Amino acid sequence: MTVNENDGDTTFADLGLRSELLDVLSALGYEEPTPIQGEAIPPLVEGRDLLGQAATGTGKTAAFALPVLQRMPPPGDGGGPVALILVPTRELAVQVSEAFHRYGRTLGTRVLPIYGGAPIVRQLQALKRGVDIVVATPGRALDHIGRGTLDLRDLRTVVLDEADEMLDMGFADDIEEILAATPEERQTVLFSATLPPRIDGIARRHLRDPVRIEMGHAAAEGREATPLVEQTAYLVARSHKPAALGRLLDIEAPTAAIIFCRTREEVDQLTEAMNGRGYRAEALHGGMEQEQRDRVMARLRAGTADLLVATDVAARGLDIEQLTHVVNYNVPSAPEAYVHRIGRVGRAGREGVALTLVEPREHRMLKSIERVTKQRISVERLPTVADLRARRMELTRAALEECLLQDDLEPFRVVVESLADEFDLMEVALAAVKLAHESSGGALDEEEIPEISPRTVDKRGGQRDGRPDGQRYGRGPAGGMARLFFNVGRSAGIRPQDLVGAIAGESRLSGRDIGAIEIAERFSLVEVPDSAADEVIAALRRATIKGRRPTVRRERETHTRRPR
Ligand code: AMP
Repeated sequence: MTVNENDGDTTFADLGLRSELLDVLSALGYEEPTPIQGEAIPPLVEGRDLLGQAATGTGKTAAFALPVLQRMPPPGDGGGPVALILVPTRELAVQVSEAFHRYGRTLGTRVLPIYGGAPIVRQLQALKRGVDIVVATPGRALDHIGRGTLDLRDLRTVVLDEADEMLDMGFADDIEEILAATPEERQTVLFSATLPPRIDGIARRHLRDPVRIEMGHAAAEGREATPLVEQTAYLVARSHKPAALGRLLDIEAPTAAIIFCRTREEVDQLTEAMNGRGYRAEALHGGMEQEQRDRVMARLRAGTADLLVATDVAARGLDIEQLTHVVNYNVPSAPEAYVHRIGRVGRAGREGVALTLVEPREHRMLKSIERVTKQRISVERLPTVADLRARRMELTRAALEECLLQDDLEPFRVVVESLADEFDLMEVALAAVKLAHESSGGALDEEEIPEISPRTVDKRGGQRDGRPDGQRYGRGPAGGMARLFFNVGRSAGIRPQDLVGAIAGESRLSGRDIGAIEIAERFSLVEVPDSAADEVIAALRRATIKGRRPTVRRERETHTRRPR
């Protein structure tokens, strides 16, 4: 099965979800299932196994969380956990737990994230009190299974989330061991951004007649993204997105732009934020009456509003003549949605611009879109404050030029003449330009938005600074980083992913935070942020890497032999 475009007809109710869940989704402002949700939820609700290709940003978490919640026995029946979700990192364990909390809040669902680095005592207490859903990194899950504190007898569903990432981090054996400890008749769900042969191997061994969902075929076969649209993406941390959007709009100065958001809530918040920054923004989403929507569209057409902030559902079927820019405030949930959105500009031979804000974790989704559309989306750095100043000067200059070409300057001659007695004409002109610039908002002070380098994003490509082995060895660690010494190395079969897996699985760091890794015959050196070094050492005290319990400490100054 492949993911098809949601044609606007499928609703969450059509997927057979119970009313408590439908109410929660509506309160969260979710207007329709994402394509992956449309395909995955019905078979999962029926209890089928599933192998799904889905990256972060597709809505995959809700795709497995909603069916798990749907199938939950009534609260208080006294059994052990009914679902175990395995995830590669602590960061994701927290995110997935929060998602379960959010969706299951009216059902009274008890969710527990378990990962290394958090006090085990609290986890033990929570497990004893009883939980319905456990979200765990493989290392810590095994630890609890070994202690007999995680009872898997009542388990109905196991989800392997970001399975390729877990394999890359060296968790393959742990996963096998955990699955062997679960009931045979369980439902097994595997989500992975990529489907390499190793994932197929796991699927063959552990999934029973799974439904297969792969992304992007519909768009690849169907339409092509229009070549007249210039497509650019910017990597931005979530907290800087409103500022980044403002910056881009200032530089691009669109005649009219549509900004796509995921939910109603996001539309309302962003509309307010953009109005606060001095734009004329209007919200458009499915929670609005037809009459309200008509008014919004009229304002846009009349040019009394220049930004439309909308959900996909609300924007469906709109045809806006003067639209020059499409902005994806998040990476859309499927390549098809991207193609749809950017098809709104670049019509009838006019050129359009599509801008996409990408959070670092969504970077892989961008790659999927490029693969499907067979078009490159260039990732560029956000304009800096200096770029913005230069652009604002340019706009002031253009405004003055236009003014000079019009013939209505006479009334101001007396002002210039009276000043000319006292000042040089150039000085007078400079003062006038300054006033014009300031009154158009051109002198507003802006803060720099931190740049995220694409090179540090995708560790799969092995492109991170300091790799491959050996490049930085013998020099001091990179700025702000500390180097940790592990007494295991090549002779113990250690690979970089084993070290990344152990650190990301046991501490609050994610793979991205980890710097250069050097593997010598009998030891390894790994750079981590200095501020987190002691916490990582403490977290790894109980960890095993390739079956060994390593000694981990800060590297001593003298330790500068070249690894062999
Ligand atoms: P995920 O791919 O699971 O990381 O989800 C990406 C984001 O999309 C999360 O912020 C979700 O809250 C949001 N999301 C998931 N499903 C929907 C939906 N059907 N409509 C709107 N937003 C959604």
